[in-house]
Amino acid sequence: MNFRIGYGYDVHQLEEGRNLYLGGLKIPHSKGCIAHSDGDVLIHAICDALLGAAAMRDIGFHFPDTDPEFKNIDSKILLQKTMNIISDKGYSLVNIDSTICLQKPKIKNYIPEITKTLADIINTDQDNISVKATTTEKLGFIGREEGIAAHAVVLIQKSA
Ligand code: MG
Repeated sequence: MNFRIGYGYDVHQLEEGRNLYLGGLKIPHSKGCIAHSDGDVLIHAICDALLGAAAMRDIGFHFPDTDPEFKNIDSKILLQKTMNIISDKGYSLVNIDSTICLQKPKIKNYIPEITKTLADIINTDQDNISVKATTTEKLGFIGREEGIAAHAVVLIQKSA
């Protein structure tokens, strides 16, 4: 079996009055991410991890933020497209582990729905998807609520 690991990291700046999307869910909050797309840092980190595992460049290469096609795009579509890219190369997902770094809001109660949303898009079991969250103890740009970051590690395998 041909296993490959991938890692992804993303950051977006927060601004008052924008919608906050995490893992395909709209999370009630006074601030949201500034982005060309919907600014879903978790999905972006996962896409980069998937592409990295397949050695197929990164999310900005496939979905450039200069392309009007991706303006305000739902990142769930980017995840679906990313899965298509790696499955065209013969890969399927084994599992994802991820961490969202944010000071506010508490997202603990949204994790099960985020996990289900991601599993449905990827067409995998919810057991294969782990989403965690942490604050940075009020330190740095995340602690000052200026931005949100996400990290993701994935394992993929060659199907054939
Ligand atoms: Mg991004």
